[in-house]
Parts: sequence; structure tokens; C-alpha cells
Amino acid sequence: MHFAAIGWADRDGHAAFQPNELACVLVDRNGAIPSKQSVSGAVRRAKVLDLVAAESNATCLVLPQAAFRKEKGAPKPCRPHPDRR
Ligand SMILES: [Zn+2]
Repeated sequence: MHFAAIGWADRDGHAAFQPNELACVLVDRNGAIPSKQSVSGAVRRAKVLDLVAAESNATCLVLPQAAFRKEKGAPKPCRPHPDRR
């Protein structure tokens, strides 16, 4: 989960996903695509573990500012968080 966010995140630590895209990223070893419920469960667990920020959801994972910052890349708002700083 955390690695999915790192790989996808833009310079502000937002990793926006199309609907179901995160589910595809989280495909298990057997190739089964997790249900919506297990995706949001995974997001919730990642929040509890402080792997992602509280504003994360299944369509956009937000990395904690302290843990992550890219130097390059233009900021582009993601749909779930249009008025982020
Ligand atoms: Zn976002």
C-alpha cells in the first residue's frame, strides 16, 4: 500500500487513482482484485499506521508531508482534493 503511494505520488505526495485503479494495484498474490470494501479497509489501515495522511481515500492516497516530498514536477490538483495547499 505504501509503496503504491510512493510510486504514484506527485510532488505534493498525492497519488490519485481512477476508480478501481487502486484495487488493481492492490491485487493479491493470486491475482484476485480486492473488493471496494477491502480497498477502503486497506486505506483505513494505512492511515492507522500513519503510512498515509488522514485526507487519503480510495481515489487519492496522500503521503504525510514529513515523509515525502519530491523536488520536481508541476503541481496538478487531483479530483478528490481540488483545494489542497
Ligand atoms: Zn489528492
